[in-house]
Amino acid sequence: MKPSFICAGLGLMVCLSTAAQTRQSDEMAYRIKQEAFGNQKIVELSQWFTDFLGPRLAESENGRRAEVLVKEKMTEFGLSNARQEYASGFPKGGWDNRKTYVAMTEPYYTAFAATPKAWSGSTQGFVKADVVYLDVNTEADLEKYRGKLSDKVVLLPVSQTYTLRFSPLASRLTEEELDELAQDPRPAPRRARYRGGDYTLRSAVARFLQTEKPLAVMAGDGTFNVPGSRSVNYKAGDPEPVPEITLPIEDHGRMARLIQMNVPVKMELEVSNTFSPADTIVNNVIAEIPGTDPKLKNEVVLIGAHLDSWHGGTGAADNASGCIVMMEAMRILKELGVQPRRTIRIALWGAEEHGLYGSRGYAGRFLYNRKDKKKEAGYDNFALYLNMDNGSGRFRGIYLEENDMAVPFFRTWMQPFETLGFTTLSLRRTGSTDHATFNALGLPAYQFIQDELEYGRTYHTLMDTYERLSIEDLRVNAALVAWFALNAAQDNARIPVKPGMP
Ligand SMILES: [Zn+2]
Repeated sequence: MKPSFICAGLGLMVCLSTAAQTRQSDEMAYRIKQEAFGNQKIVELSQWFTDFLGPRLAESENGRRAEVLVKEKMTEFGLSNARQEYASGFPKGGWDNRKTYVAMTEPYYTAFAATPKAWSGSTQGFVKADVVYLDVNTEADLEKYRGKLSDKVVLLPVSQTYTLRFSPLASRLTEEELDELAQDPRPAPRRARYRGGDYTLRSAVARFLQTEKPLAVMAGDGTFNVPGSRSVNYKAGDPEPVPEITLPIEDHGRMARLIQMNVPVKMELEVSNTFSPADTIVNNVIAEIPGTDPKLKNEVVLIGAHLDSWHGGTGAADNASGCIVMMEAMRILKELGVQPRRTIRIALWGAEEHGLYGSRGYAGRFLYNRKDKKKEAGYDNFALYLNMDNGSGRFRGIYLEENDMAVPFFRTWMQPFETLGFTTLSLRRTGSTDHATFNALGLPAYQFIQDELEYGRTYHTLMDTYERLSIEDLRVNAALVAWFALNAAQDNARIPVKPGMP
């Protein structure tokens, strides 16, 4: 690839080449692979992030404990400036589950795997009650229940039923699927946004139950007797929401079917949750390998993943796996004694699951002030962001967010890793996690194409635990992140921001 040059005015005139010229040596690729594949450090780190740190719900006590411990771990890895860094306020305040017991007692006894929805309230101690199935298809149907629910447990309408699946639980992307992803997606119609009537009905039901105050509400979410982890709508200062518990759809469905057969159903339960005040804040946990080139050291290659998780399980695939890969990548670079030209920074984001609070807070403080429509100092120093948040599966390529200018860089850099299955550059956009914060500002910020493994079945549930991790895939991913971050830190050129942005 021949270099081409553009001049950009940044106060002084700075000349940047637009194409990668300086892939790191094959010897460095070898050393990174040897360090990533040759020891058991990633196994220790994986157990530490899951079993030891436990669930990391945003602004929960355990989430805060994790931040402190992760900061200490970064220091232990020899990274510089490890810190919990303020990102933003958090309107929900903190919430912690202290106790959950849920069982059906009539027509026979069965205890259920159950989990309270985050930010829902507590039962009045131990309660036993008749169960009512809320049979509503329209808002008007709610009226027949008015004034009748205060001493009942309410089963929400069945919204999901189980269907047998004949595809394997875990799979790797096939060559055909990767070829499909490699096709330029443009031009293509934007997908219509979902605005279902279902959502309106669900909100009406939630409002109705909040006024009628049943003893507790049971929702069905999750399969294979594993409830999903979800939350209710709540902001600090609102009245405490009625206790709402998620049951797997099998258990929820069983009680719904019994009631529809006119068999009386009773339950007993005790759920205790605590709320903490509104003045909670979202932190990111950040550390660096400082840049050494006098001209480039203020430029930042950022790698990251969200540290928060849902409260069920230990948030292993979502998103301890991303944190493990990013931390291991930093460990590898540190172990190899790399002295990068640009600064390599790791950021483990807070409160992603509730609306990307951590990364948005960071972008607002250091990159672009949306209110004043003004770039902050970090914007022009932003070299690259790499994010991981699609489970534990191996990286097979990267989504380049329609940024054609990024293609030559990754095409050059990826070559020593093609033999590990990293072969696909996709110009597609991929959604819904922290890279989107930066991509929305035109900055080069990407997520990888990952093998799905069991992600769809397990994330946001109680079974998102250590067992969901594929250690061998995490090793490959860590090596790839270390390699790309190093190349981006050393390259004479930088991936240009999208023209006309922000
Ligand atoms: Zn996630």
